[in-house]
Amino acid sequence: MATQENLWVIYQIQRLDGNLAAIERRRAALDDGTALGREVAARRQRIASLEEEQRQAGLAVRDAELELSSVEARIQRLDQVLYSGKVGNPKELQGYQDELASLRRRKDTLEEQVLTRMEESDAATDRLAAAREAEADATARWKAHVLAYRKEVAALDAEKQALVEQREAVRAQAEADLLRAYDAAARLRKPLVGRVEEDACGACGMALPGRMVKEYTTNPDAELTCPTCGAHLLWRVPPGEA
Ligand SMILES: [Zn+2]
Repeated sequence: MATQENLWVIYQIQRLDGNLAAIERRRAALDDGTALGREVAARRQRIASLEEEQRQAGLAVRDAELELSSVEARIQRLDQVLYSGKVGNPKELQGYQDELASLRRRKDTLEEQVLTRMEESDAATDRLAAAREAEADATARWKAHVLAYRKEVAALDAEKQALVEQREAVRAQAEADLLRAYDAAARLRKPLVGRVEEDACGACGMALPGRMVKEYTTNPDAELTCPTCGAHLLWRVPPGEA
C-alpha cells in the first residue's frame, strides 16, 4: 500500500541512496596524486641525466688539465735543454725555439679551455642542484597530497558506512511490495517516490495539475502518482522531518 507513511520510508531510502551515489562520485573524482607522482618520476629522471652531464663536464675539465700539465712539462724540458747551452747547432736551436713557441701557444689555448670547461662544469653543478631542489619540492607536494587523499578517502568511506547502516535500518521498516518496486525502479535509475514541494513532483520537477492538488486537499490519504513520470506522490512528511 502506497500510503503516505509507507512512501515516507521509501523516500528516505531513496534519499540515502542518492547521498551514497554522491559519495561514490566524490570518491571517484578525487585526485589520487598520480599526476604528481609522474612529475616526481620525471624530475628524478632529469636528475639522473644531469648527474651524467655533470660527470662528463668533470671529466672534460680533468682531460684539459692533464693535457695542459703535459704541455707545461714539455715546455719545462725544452727550456732546460735550451738554457743548458748544450745545443750549439743554430739550426737545431731554431728548431727547439720554434717548438717552444708552438707549445706556448698550445698552452694558452689549453688554459682557456680549462677555464671554459670549469665554467661548464660549475653550470652543470648548478643545474643539478636546482633540479634536486625542485625534485625535493615536488616529492614533498606529492607526499602531502597522497596523505590528504588517503584522509579524504577514509572520511568518505566512514560517511558511506554510516549511510549504509542507516539505510539498512530504514529498509527494515519498509513495506515489502513497495521496497521491491523501489529496488526495481532503482536498477533503472528511476525514483519511485516524488516528494511534492510547491505543488511540483520532486522526481521529475513538473508542476502537478491543479485538480490533483485539490484531490489531495480533499482526501489526504489518496494514493496518487505523478502524471508526468509516474512516481508515487509523497505529500507530507512526519512532523520535525525535513
Ligand atoms: Zn513526476
